[in-house]
Amino acid sequence: MHVRSRGWIINPEDLTRRLIDRLAASGINELGIHPGGGKAAPELLLKTLAFHEEKRTRELYDYAGERGVTVEYDAHVLSYLLPRSEFSAHPEWFRMDESGARVNDANMCASNEDALDYVSKRARELALTLKTPSHRYAYWTDDIVGKTCRCPRCREKTAAQQTLTITNAIARGLKSADPQAITGFLAYLDALEVPEGIRPEKGVYLEYAPIGRDSARAINDAQSPENVHQTAKLAALIAYFDAKNARVVEYWADNSRFSNWTRPPKYMSLNAQVMRADVKYYLECGFEDMTSFACFLGEDYEALYGPAPVEEYGEILSGEY
Ligand SMILES: [Zn+2]
Repeated sequence: MHVRSRGWIINPEDLTRRLIDRLAASGINELGIHPGGGKAAPELLLKTLAFHEEKRTRELYDYAGERGVTVEYDAHVLSYLLPRSEFSAHPEWFRMDESGARVNDANMCASNEDALDYVSKRARELALTLKTPSHRYAYWTDDIVGKTCRCPRCREKTAAQQTLTITNAIARGLKSADPQAITGFLAYLDALEVPEGIRPEKGVYLEYAPIGRDSARAINDAQSPENVHQTAKLAALIAYFDAKNARVVEYWADNSRFSNWTRPPKYMSLNAQVMRADVKYYLECGFEDMTSFACFLGEDYEALYGPAPVEEYGEILSGEY
C-alpha cells in the first residue's frame, strides 16, 4: 500500500522556489496554501487573495505544476463567504446563541436557506478567484469550538450535522465553478463525529484532522487517552463518507502548533517513528490521501535552526507499507 496524494501545507509567506524543489525531490505532490486559522482567519484570507494575484505567486504556482506538485488552498472560509457585515441586513442568516440572541461572531444559521444559497454563490466566486490546477477546494467552516447555531431549527443538530449542511452548500457552489470540484467535511474539534441523517453531496469527502492528538504517540496507541478520543469515531466516519477521496490532515510537521501559533518558530524534530506508524494505520483504515500542516518552517525557521525536515517527511509518506 502507498499514499496517493502526499501533501505539505504552508502559510503563504513561506512559499519559495527552493521549497518547491525540495518537495518535488521528496515525492510530495500536493502543496496546500493555508492562510491561517483562529479568529484572524477571515482577515488572513483577504491577504491571501492579494497574495494569489501577485506575479511572483503565479510564477511559483506554475513552477510547482511543472515539477509535479499541485497547489491548492486549505482555508477556513465561512466568515469570508458570509461577511459579518451582512448581519445588520440579515440577522436571521447568522447563528443564535444559547441566550436566544442572533450573533455574528462565527459560522451561521445552518437552517436558513437564503443564507446557504448566499454561501453557495460566494463559494463559487471564491473558487473562480483562487483558481489553481487542483480540483480540491478545502473550504472549511470557521476555526472555532462551540459556535453552532442554537435557533429552534438548528438546536437539535450537532456541530457535525451543521458543518456538513454548510459544506454541502459550499460544494454546490464549487461544482458550478468546477464540475470536478471536491471539498472536505472537516471532522475536527466538536465536529469529530458522524453527521447522522445528513448525506454528503457528491464531491464532499471526509477530511480528518485530529488536532487534539498526542503527537508523541502513534494515533492508534490505545494507551493515549487523547488519541483514543481522536480515533473513536474514525471507522464510523469512513463508513459514512466512504473512503473514496478521504484525506487525513495531520500535524506531523505542524510547527505552528508546536510553537503555539506564535512566531518566532520553535525548533521542530519530526517524530519519524510516530509518523510511520500513523501512515500505516491510516492506509489500513482506507485513506489514500494524506497531508500535514507544515507551517512555521519557512525561511525564518531555517535561519534559526537549519533546513526543515522535508526530505525525511517525504520519504515516510512516499514509502510502501
Ligand atoms: Zn439556525
